[in-house]
Amino acid sequence: SLEQGPEGPETPIQVVLRVRPMSAAELRRGEQSALHCSGTRTLQPPAACVQPRPAARSFSCTVFTFGQTGSGKTYTLTGPPPQGEGVPVPPNLAGIMQRTFTWLLDRVQHLGAPVTLRASYLEIYNEQVRDLLSVGSPRPLPVRWNKTRGFYVEQLRVVEFGSLGALMELLQMGLSRRRSSAHTLNQASSRSHALLTLYISRQTVSMPPGDPGEPPVGGKLCFVDLAGSEKVAATGSRGELMLEANSINRSLLALGETGGHCISLLLDPQRKQSHIPFRDSKLTKLLADSLGGRGVTLMVACVSPSAQCLPETLSTLRYASRAQ
Ligand code: ADP
Ligand code: MG
Repeated sequence: SLEQGPEGPETPIQVVLRVRPMSAAELRRGEQSALHCSGTRTLQPPAACVQPRPAARSFSCTVFTFGQTGSGKTYTLTGPPPQGEGVPVPPNLAGIMQRTFTWLLDRVQHLGAPVTLRASYLEIYNEQVRDLLSVGSPRPLPVRWNKTRGFYVEQLRVVEFGSLGALMELLQMGLSRRRSSAHTLNQASSRSHALLTLYISRQTVSMPPGDPGEPPVGGKLCFVDLAGSEKVAATGSRGELMLEANSINRSLLALGETGGHCISLLLDPQRKQSHIPFRDSKLTKLLADSLGGRGVTLMVACVSPSAQCLPETLSTLRYASRAQ
């Protein structure tokens, strides 16, 4: 169930809370559910926040999921894993991504003008950008900046698609890459951020296929599966793990913890004049559009109901209320 925060087309940032059901493992361990949700309701897709504003010439909509590892961030975005080849996920279980994809493709079909749809999917791990759709084995890609494009990832593969099926295939390809990468062996996928971006552009200018060089003419929908918010540093890990903890914390800090205040600035009516203190983090650079207050943002705080998770749940809730 999802509980909604303030809503409406004028709300630049919407925060919702999702409490997943107790897992079989939690029940087996005899853990108690410690959360009671009152007045819950289901988030009706497509939510206002993932609907591009038709009047706007260019728009940027971003959906984040955040919370501790195992709280349901990936599930919320992608839905349950496919049960097998060609077995469709029941619509009531589909994740935010699939629902948005369906909605978007439907819209595009009903639109008179030809529209080009493209997607990219990347992962940020240890402040390194990895292309989840790359042909061949991915190597770290640099983040660059220029006047027309803002921040962008050099040589990121941007794939044109024409159907829901093709887009779902790209999603599954990226997801399986995330799962099967070497660093997933030590569960490090929970310490990486994943960004799937859809680029929607009117076919007014000719563009070479796959060239992300031109600035967005239409718009951008971005789905961000944030790294687990738990304090990795507290496990006493060293070396690479510490590095991970630092870069995750840096990204999350820049997104709204004390010091960054990006999220509170988003809510500031004067925000267009405000200087948003983007920290030197790849994530915040790549999300500069949405954090800069020009876009519409949905944040989904994900929590486990288990009493065992309460400390992390409270920290997620604090973060969520600050974002609101
Ligand atoms: P995270 O991405 O935050 O680490 P996951 O999305 O992988 O967490 O979810 C952890 C586990 O809980 C997975 O096995 C997932 O299928 C299950 N799960 C998460 N949310 C739900 C939900 N709303 N309903 C049923 N199962 C869920
Ligand atoms: Mg996950």
